[in-house]
Amino acid sequence: MKRILRFLIVAAVCITCSCSSYAQDASAAPTHGIVIANMDRSVKPGDDFYRFANGEWIKRTEIPPDRAEVDVFSLLDDVSNKRTAELIQEIAKSNPPAGSGARKVADLYNSYMDEAAVEAKGLAPLRPHLEAIAAIRDERELARALGESLRADVDPLNNTNFYPPNLFGLWVAPGFSDSEHYTAYLLQGGLELYDREYYLSDSESMRAIREEYKAHIAAILKLAGLTDTDARAARIFDLEHAIAQTHRSLADNEDIHKANNPWTQADFPAKAPGLDWAEYFRGAGLSQAKSLIVWQPEAFTGEAALVASTPLDTWKDWLAFHLIEACGGVLPKAVAEERFAFFGKVLFGAQQQRPRWQRGVFLVDDLLGDAVGQIYAQRYFSPEAKAQAQAMVANLIAAFRKRIEALAWMNPATKAEAEAKLSTLYVGIGYPETWHDYSNFEVKPGDIFGNIWRGHLSEYQRQIARLGETVDKKEWCMTPQTVNAVNLPLQNALNFPAAILQPPFYDPLAPAVVNYGAIGSVIGHEISHTFDTEGSTFDSKGRLRNWWTPEDLKHFEDATAQLAAQYDTYKPFPDLSLNGKQTLAENIADVAGISAAYDGYKASLAGNTAPTQDGFSGDQQFFIAFGQNWGSKTREAALRQLVMTDSHAPGEYRAATVRNIDAWYAAFHVQPGEKLYLAAPDRVRIW
Ligand SMILES: [Zn+2]
Repeated sequence: MKRILRFLIVAAVCITCSCSSYAQDASAAPTHGIVIANMDRSVKPGDDFYRFANGEWIKRTEIPPDRAEVDVFSLLDDVSNKRTAELIQEIAKSNPPAGSGARKVADLYNSYMDEAAVEAKGLAPLRPHLEAIAAIRDERELARALGESLRADVDPLNNTNFYPPNLFGLWVAPGFSDSEHYTAYLLQGGLELYDREYYLSDSESMRAIREEYKAHIAAILKLAGLTDTDARAARIFDLEHAIAQTHRSLADNEDIHKANNPWTQADFPAKAPGLDWAEYFRGAGLSQAKSLIVWQPEAFTGEAALVASTPLDTWKDWLAFHLIEACGGVLPKAVAEERFAFFGKVLFGAQQQRPRWQRGVFLVDDLLGDAVGQIYAQRYFSPEAKAQAQAMVANLIAAFRKRIEALAWMNPATKAEAEAKLSTLYVGIGYPETWHDYSNFEVKPGDIFGNIWRGHLSEYQRQIARLGETVDKKEWCMTPQTVNAVNLPLQNALNFPAAILQPPFYDPLAPAVVNYGAIGSVIGHEISHTFDTEGSTFDSKGRLRNWWTPEDLKHFEDATAQLAAQYDTYKPFPDLSLNGKQTLAENIADVAGISAAYDGYKASLAGNTAPTQDGFSGDQQFFIAFGQNWGSKTREAALRQLVMTDSHAPGEYRAATVRNIDAWYAAFHVQPGEKLYLAAPDRVRIW
């Protein structure tokens, strides 16, 4: 449900640990319920519900200098990161037994923190890899090197990461047609600036970023001791620009129907000539994979053609540059600072790099997330909190069941499959049933460069080793310490990590109505992904199979087109509107989530009236709690990036979801003429 922007910022800037909190000021007594002090009651809820719910918080909150944004998620991240940091630092000092997961955590963290050793080694750890690139003599060796660089670094469905910096990216997941077995998916890649828009957009800000980027490429090459760096940088940029022209847009990437393209090994040279595919797959260790799903065939055709048509030396420079970027976080300070100056400041508008220990915590979390998560879950997620959250999930599922039963437009056969999806849905709460095995990841004290290299490689090898194996439907794709929630359509499963199940989203001491409005809407959002534009294409077994009749689909598409049009009208900047199509799936989920959560809340009252808080009725608290999920402040550069590349609308517009809910109008007496007012036929009802 949260967005890739978070990961991009984290990747560039790494984590932080501030002491601010959405829930309350440090000086105030803890509150359990909606946070009155964060509201601006001078704003009419019908004019700007987002500022009504969050206005005072927005006024008094400053974006920390090392951040591109601050919101409820990032504040909860702080809590989780602080806890994770304490855990890791505790482990790092505790001299754990050799061979244990804790030992790996300790050695990885300590090797990152030994900055003096990193500086003393300089670029020496990088040299053998640069020399291997320099030694490439022909297109066959180039293809092999490109194959060797493939990593399991994308996830187009669960974590929605579409941007591998290597030529292509690999995702190992249940197959579209055979969801019982792990299958290889290949995605377009090759861009350090993530999305094609950065290379192709005509806007002034994008043109400015491109100039800064060229200077950054040259600076990195210079730091690596290469010569003629301006000319090389220009050629690398031109190659990436050409790659971008072959790429699919984000909106098209998210269209699953365009992604199911199984290619046999023989299809690759026939459909995408120019790259020595046999050698590429040998380098990638994928020669045995009989069939791979190619997400964007035209990009594979285009990128393979560029391998043939672009001079070998340009590709070698491109490989060297991408190698340094991939390892930049563990190279000497000069490289890390140059990377921050571009990715942190120019691309995301952050002012200051986070302290090294915080970046070290993020690195460990990334490479040994479950080893940390196992201890995190034991310490921070009580069985009582788990049981209460499970009860709420059960109520939300019951609410969805009723809504589906009551739908007049849906065919009985479609309803039966929807019911089957609800019945077989696996809802993971807090932490996974089994933990990730890191036995193939060798962590050596004092070798941070080798450690991250081996970490990514061992994860890649773990992923390709299970191709063809039976799928574990209860496998998680997030660690317990992650502040997020996710729907895994190919497994018909949801994950709600421990770290998101805490105030202000979820507070066992708060009135039920507030939990339903806050985390209940989030849970409803995730459940609804089971039935939305993505979910309607995956059946109860997780297979890519449309289980709707054409009439069902027609109604759904009409209703969702109305929602896309509603979001197209929002303009965060005079020259930039939201893209209703790009954000459609998430906006549908928001409407559905709040609707089901409202039902669940009503059912939980069992005919009683909810207690008031500070004069606010139960219904008012419900909607305010929902609105307070979305309090956020984002720097302009990051907000523009989000609007262009993210599948979620910015928080302000997510809070405006309420204008589609009849009960919101009654709760706040919203009248025609107020800015968010929609006449009843214009309110979008999907479920
Ligand atoms: Zn979502």
